[in-house]
Amino acid sequence: MRKIPMRTCVMCRKKTDKRELLRIVRTPQGDVVFDPTGKQNGRGAYVCSDDSCLNSVKNVKKVSAALDVTAKAEQLEEVLKKIREYLDEKRV
Ligand SMILES: [Zn+2]
Repeated sequence: MRKIPMRTCVMCRKKTDKRELLRIVRTPQGDVVFDPTGKQNGRGAYVCSDDSCLNSVKNVKKVSAALDVTAKAEQLEEVLKKIREYLDEKRV
């Protein structure tokens, strides 16, 4: 049996196949961005694609704690926008 890398969603704490999760990363410059490749440098936090978890991406406190950074609300809105665009494309 092949081992599937599992990661925990920082919102609901469910463990999921890493490839099914969305990665938010704190870049070395201190930015908070969506990482569609899952390979960007920096500290990452994973979120699953459940609606309630996606909505929590706008939760400054939760994301800041997960990434150990003070995230800005407008950064998180941008991250969420990118995630939604990415998910829309995947569905096509
Ligand atoms: Zn979740």
